[in-house]
Amino acid sequence: MPTSPAKKTKKNKRAASTRTALTSQAAKRSPKRANRNRLVSAEVGEIMRMRAEAEAAVAEARKSHERLREAIDILPQGIVFLDADGRYILWNKKYAEIYSRSSDLFVPGARLQDTIRIGVERGDYPEAIGREEEWIAERLARLYQPSERHEQVLADGRCILIEERLTEDGGVIGLRVDITELKQREASFRLLFDSNPIPMIVCALDDERILDVNAAAVEHYGYSRAEFEKLTIRSVQAFASDPPWIGEHSSDEQAARTWKHVRADGTLIDLAIYSRQLMYGDQPAVLLALMDITERKRAEARLAFMAQHDSLTGLPNRNLLRQKMDEILLHTRRSSDKAAVLVLGIDNFKAVNDSLGHGIGDKLLRAVAKRLRSTLREEDTLARLNSDEFAIVQSGLTRPDDAVLLARRLLEAIGDPYLFDGHSIVIGASIGIAMAPGDGDESEKLLKNADMALSRAKNDSRGTFSFFEAGMDARAQSRRKIEADLRDAIQNEVLRPYYQPLIDLATGRITGFEVLVRWPDPERGMISPAEFIPVAEETGLINGLGGLMLRRACADAVLWPEDVRVAVNLSPLQFRTGNLLSIVMDALKQSGLSAKRLELEITETLLLEKSGQVLATLHALRALGVRISMDDFGTGYSSLSYLRSFPFDKIKIDQSFVRDLAANRDAQAIVRSIISLGVGLGVTITAEGVETEAELNCLRNEGCHEAQGFLFSHARPNAEILEMLKMQSGDHIRVSGSTERVA
Ligand code: C2E
Ligand code: MG
Ligand code: MG
Repeated sequence: MPTSPAKKTKKNKRAASTRTALTSQAAKRSPKRANRNRLVSAEVGEIMRMRAEAEAAVAEARKSHERLREAIDILPQGIVFLDADGRYILWNKKYAEIYSRSSDLFVPGARLQDTIRIGVERGDYPEAIGREEEWIAERLARLYQPSERHEQVLADGRCILIEERLTEDGGVIGLRVDITELKQREASFRLLFDSNPIPMIVCALDDERILDVNAAAVEHYGYSRAEFEKLTIRSVQAFASDPPWIGEHSSDEQAARTWKHVRADGTLIDLAIYSRQLMYGDQPAVLLALMDITERKRAEARLAFMAQHDSLTGLPNRNLLRQKMDEILLHTRRSSDKAAVLVLGIDNFKAVNDSLGHGIGDKLLRAVAKRLRSTLREEDTLARLNSDEFAIVQSGLTRPDDAVLLARRLLEAIGDPYLFDGHSIVIGASIGIAMAPGDGDESEKLLKNADMALSRAKNDSRGTFSFFEAGMDARAQSRRKIEADLRDAIQNEVLRPYYQPLIDLATGRITGFEVLVRWPDPERGMISPAEFIPVAEETGLINGLGGLMLRRACADAVLWPEDVRVAVNLSPLQFRTGNLLSIVMDALKQSGLSAKRLELEITETLLLEKSGQVLATLHALRALGVRISMDDFGTGYSSLSYLRSFPFDKIKIDQSFVRDLAANRDAQAIVRSIISLGVGLGVTITAEGVETEAELNCLRNEGCHEAQGFLFSHARPNAEILEMLKMQSGDHIRVSGSTERVA
């Protein structure tokens, strides 16, 4: 082994000092002095040289020492060298910094055990307090171990990691690392782990042994901590299905998986397991967090159910129906089987809701759903499409007659009376049927076609069923076209007001005009309101249309003679918007027409709703001075009862009664009683649709006040009305012929 530079220097020093002593003794002797002196001076030269060499070596050694000190001072860890007696040889800045309270004790040659003892006495080591001797003994015993590692807490709370190793010459080299932050992090992690409400387990990556569990895991699994330590994650035996396979956890990704799992108390829950690889001390491990997601899963399932089912009846909704239909249609495409789609609509459901309230309405719908379901086979699909419509898909049919039989059974089942809260309710239904694949091979198309067939069934006579026919589609399309064109016609004010006179039968004078909407179309000529008013009502366009006619009529009428009124038809829908009153007031204000010259015609359907809002609006209108007429009287279900609900100013006998007047005694009796009723109530009675002299005479004889009809005039544009008014003489007016053609 090579001699260290420090050792070499010591040897040379000893040799040099021996030689110097010899030379001074020799100089004192003689006679061979000169010779000897020569020798001596040679020796001295040699000695000087050696001395210089030795000094250089010392300087070199000092420099190396300094370099070593500089080098160890840079280190982020504390470092200390002790000799075999435990005396300080060398230490770096960091070491002194770590033990700043004891740094005054570090002097070369001082013994570690003394500094420790003084430190203990001064209370530098809180762990030693109360067991000082014992602690010192333990500490010193550790000092001369071949390799040693332990932690030490200082008085200011810092935590120091101590690593010590024996050196070859029996000394010790020691490292000190300040691990306070690490310890704090560990402590907060520990707190997070221990007090976390989510059960957590740490298990070894290699043999899956459970290394640690938190309190929540203890509670969750029902094992004690001690029991846990004897288990592997697989032997926990709490998983209803395969346990998560530790090896599958990728190195640092967090993976969530769900497992069915049996809790300690025996309940089956859904568990999401999050895992993460980490070091547990020195050991590669996996941290498993076990989240009970049973509630979340349940909520998800509930949401999924709600997305596909109707909340009132619990039946599948349109979405789920479409899915099921797609499956059925896939099958019909592959086989010769047919399927029937039946759309069933409850007749007059709105009337039930309005008269008996939504509570009963809901009960009724649930009862209907139940009856329908019990009439069907297990494999038939039943769904609720919207408020009063259900769809039934009957699969595996061989002939359309099967659908007929089912439709009859369904109608029969629905027709039996229902009893709710003491109310006996009888309802009917109508059914539209489309067949697959004949009437369409896509769910949407079949539903649409069945819906069209339902409209036909409802129009024909309620309480029946109707099959889809090819022409229905064309009709529906033309309806859609009407809707689009009508929208434009309203917007561009293409619609025209035409006026039909009302004649006072006593004087023969025109008392007013009823405005009737006309739609001139370049292709189709004059389109009849009978064709587009229902479309306007279905689509809400009636509001724009009605408002337009009202404004135009008021603006035209203001230029007529003072004693001539204008009558405007109102649709029930215009009452629903809630601002009808202000619309009427605006029209009057803008035109300058006096309210008493305006007559508004409503039909019985408006009063069917028995809404307080409708009556309030009617009263408010009447309070303005506007007159209110009951149009088409006698066509409703209980016309007479409606007369009691509002003080009408005029009753217009429907033209169907006038039509039969000359020949039919019953019609005569009806008209007679209506007239006497009107007289009794002080209401003006107007007969509509008077076409012949015979009808007119009859009405006159019965004492009818007013008449309107082709016998006098068709509806005409304002320009012609102005002419007519000019011609109005003291006698009665008789205008015949027509300038309009209604398509
Ligand atoms: P309505 O209010 O009962 O109007 C009377 C209907 O009878 C008008 O039909 C008129 O042209 C027709 N008529 C008049 N005299 C005779 C006659 O002697 N014989 C025959 N066969 N018919 C006669 P129109 O113009 O086709 O209107 C039909 C219905 O459309 C109206 O019935 C009314 O309910 C509705 N309507 C017309 N214009 C409007 C409007 O501006 N707003 C609203 N909401 N409905 C309107
Ligand atoms: Mg009318
Ligand atoms: Mg009428």
